[in-house]
Amino acid sequence: MELQEIGRDVYACLQEDTGLGKSNSGLVNRGGGMVIDTFWDLPHTRELIRTYADVWSKPAERVVNTHRNGDHCWGNQLFDGAEIIAHRACGEMFATENPAAMQALRDAGGEGADPLMQAFAGALSEFDFRDIKLTPPTTVFDDSLDIELDGVQVRLIHVGPAHTAGDVLVHLPEQKVVFAGDVLFRLCTPIGWEGTYDQWIAALDRIVALAPEVVVPGHGPLCGVEGPREMRAYLEYVRGEAKPLFEQGLPVLEACKRIDLGPYAGWTEPERLVFNVARAYRELRDEPFDAPINIIEVFTTMFELRSFWGKA
Ligand SMILES: [Zn+2]
Repeated sequence: MELQEIGRDVYACLQEDTGLGKSNSGLVNRGGGMVIDTFWDLPHTRELIRTYADVWSKPAERVVNTHRNGDHCWGNQLFDGAEIIAHRACGEMFATENPAAMQALRDAGGEGADPLMQAFAGALSEFDFRDIKLTPPTTVFDDSLDIELDGVQVRLIHVGPAHTAGDVLVHLPEQKVVFAGDVLFRLCTPIGWEGTYDQWIAALDRIVALAPEVVVPGHGPLCGVEGPREMRAYLEYVRGEAKPLFEQGLPVLEACKRIDLGPYAGWTEPERLVFNVARAYRELRDEPFDAPINIIEVFTTMFELRSFWGKA
């Protein structure tokens, strides 16, 4: 974990993007302190707290969750007594998160397990989902929320459903900083859950319009506005490639095999293309933005795509 000062009293805690769940966090070290996103399990969140302890005099009194995915909020319980702030949809979706099921998946990859389970368990092996008590938001908002932290203006802006329904940007206008949560994956292939291409692209455009000098992505290294611009181009590209393949009647896996990722092949986890083609198909079938995703099927297809590419 690497702590970087990105503005006066403003920090990013970055985890190297080595795969699933290696997310980033932020700290506004003013007015009682505000942490933007906790980590996926208690050991990683304890390390996050130790890292912030280098600069804070006491633990932050506020936590913002940029969205509902566990790698941004399953460490909430370690901020005892903190106000936890998120979008209403993040609060509503909290109950769908399931650390015990994740721990069971993590433990299911032993000898004799099928190769897909072994790969999935391997991706989870450095996490420990035991003892997590889901700790949902105590304060929710709808469109935006302004908070002042001892002279620092913080604006929370709802931009979902993009990556998820409750996506929030955290904008610090004076510092020219945006914490983007998983609206932005940097040099890392995005995954989306409940949301639409149009709304995700609009959310990326919103980041650019805020004219930040530093953008902290949910995953991957710090960037400027080139980050959201490049990810927007990826989304446009995949949506455009998927449409004719859908019209030819190709299943998602066959479509993915035919898409040349070009410059995006070098982003981490390129097989997440499956998620993005599946989202394009969902829209082409006129299904709702929050139609249930069959996770096992998607991860199986990702595994098959990796095998096809010779990477399994
Ligand atoms: Zn994430």
